[in-house]
Amino acid sequence: MSIRIDCGMVVGWSGTSHELIPNGSVLIDGDSIKSVGLDNSQPADRVIDASGKLVCPGFVNLHVHSQLNVGDYLLTDVSKKDYLAANWFVFGAPFKEKIETPAPQAVAMGRKYALYSALRNGATTVLDPGGGPGALDDYVAIVGQTGGRVFFSPPFRSHDIFTDSEGRHYYEERADKGRLGLKLAVDFIRKFHGANNGRLQGILNPAQAETCEPSLLKESVAAAKELDVPIHIHAGGNFREFLEILNRYRKPVAEYLADTGILGPRTTLGHMAISGGHSRVDYPRGDELKILADTGATVGHCPHKCAKMAFAMESFDQYLAAGVRVGLGTDTYPLDIVSEMRYASLISRLVDRNASGARAAALFNAATIAGANALGRSDLGRLAPGCKADLVIIDLRTTRYGPVRDPINALVEYGTGADVETVIVNGEVVVDDGRSTKINDEELFAQAQAGANRAWDNWAARDWNSRTVEQINPPAFPTRTT
Ligand SMILES: [Zn+2]
Repeated sequence: MSIRIDCGMVVGWSGTSHELIPNGSVLIDGDSIKSVGLDNSQPADRVIDASGKLVCPGFVNLHVHSQLNVGDYLLTDVSKKDYLAANWFVFGAPFKEKIETPAPQAVAMGRKYALYSALRNGATTVLDPGGGPGALDDYVAIVGQTGGRVFFSPPFRSHDIFTDSEGRHYYEERADKGRLGLKLAVDFIRKFHGANNGRLQGILNPAQAETCEPSLLKESVAAAKELDVPIHIHAGGNFREFLEILNRYRKPVAEYLADTGILGPRTTLGHMAISGGHSRVDYPRGDELKILADTGATVGHCPHKCAKMAFAMESFDQYLAAGVRVGLGTDTYPLDIVSEMRYASLISRLVDRNASGARAAALFNAATIAGANALGRSDLGRLAPGCKADLVIIDLRTTRYGPVRDPINALVEYGTGADVETVIVNGEVVVDDGRSTKINDEELFAQAQAGANRAWDNWAARDWNSRTVEQINPPAFPTRTT
C-alpha cells in the first residue's frame, strides 16, 4: 500500500533539524517514508489532500500508563491536602487487606482506552511504563487493535508500597525481591518484541527509584543490554521519594541512580522534576543536572501532572541549558501530547520569569526527536526517507488558531490533540477524519465510563479509611435530583 499526502505544510527533516516545506508532499511506501519534498508526481494507491493542514511527524509520548487511572481523576484539591496520600499514592499504595484483583475485561478495557486515547491525540509512539496487572497475551492483541507503536514490558519492583490502617505508607520487600518480575519482563520481551509488524517493542520497566533495590537495578541494566532494549524508571516525581532515597542512600536521586549504572543514552527517567536543587527541596544541588547530562539519559517530562500537584520542574529551559535531554510525556489524563507542549512551555516561563523562554521549537523537538532518541530510534519522530511512516495531519483552520503565520508556534501556543485529524502508523491510516479505523470510538468510551463508575462506586471498599469517592473528591457543585 502506498499513500501520498499532498499540499500540506510538511514538517520535514533536514538531517539535523525539522524544517518547513510549504505545499509539500510525503510519499509512503509500505511501512516507511519514501520521499519528503515538493514532488507530488509519484503514483500512489491513496492520495490525501492536506491543503491548509500541518503534516508532521507522529509525536512520542514518553509516559502513558495503559490503564484507566481512575485515581488520577481524584487528584483535585481535596486529596492534595493530604499530600502523602495524593499523587500516585492515592491508588498506587493500596491498603493491603483490601486489594482486589480487577476483572480481566476491566484490565483489557483500561489498556485499550489509554493506548487509543494517546494515539488519537497525536502520539504515534508511546512508552508504557506499566499499566495494571493482567494477561500479557491480551496486551499484544490490544496493541494490534488500537494501531499505535508501543514500548512496553510488565514493570517490576523489589519493594511494594502499601498504606496501613492509619493512612501511613510503608515499604515491604517482596519475597523474590523483584526477580520474578524481572524474569517475566525478560520473557515478555523475548516472546513479543517486534510483534504487530514491529509496533510492539520491548523496554525494561524497573518501576520506581525507591521501589527497586540497587542490585535489581544493576541486573536490569545487564538484562537490557543483553536484550538490546531501552529502560524506563520513575524517578524525581515526588518529594516523598526524594526524601526516601536521601534517607536510605545519603544521595539525591540522580546521583544515586547514576551510581547504580542505570543512567545511559537509552534510559528514560519518568518525571525527574525533583532534584536536589529544586526550591521546594532546598537540598544543595551539587552536580545533578550535570550527572544527567553526562550520562545522556532522557528526562520524560510530564509538566501537567506536576502542575496538578502544585509543583514544577525548575525548569525545562534550565535542564536544556545544562545539556540534559528532555522528552515529553503526559502520565495523567488527558493523554494529549499536543497540549503538553504548551504546558511545558508556559510552566517553564513561569518558573524562570522569562516570557521569551521555552520556545516552540524546543517543545516540538522534545515531543518528537528527543523521545525517539531516548528509545534508540532515529527512524521515528522525524519525516525523512527511510523513516517509519508515522505521522499526523492537523487541521489549523479552526477558530482555535485564527490566522496562522508559523504553524509550529501556532500548534504549541494554541493546539490540542483534538485538532489531530489523521494518524498514520507504520504506513497504516489508524485515525481518519478524527475517528479510529480499527475500533468503535463510542463503544470504547461507553465501556471506559462504565468501568470508571464501577471503580468509583466501589472506592470505599479499597480505601484504607473506607472513604467514598465523594468524601475524597466532592463534586464541584451539589446535585439536584428533584
Ligand atoms: Zn508513571
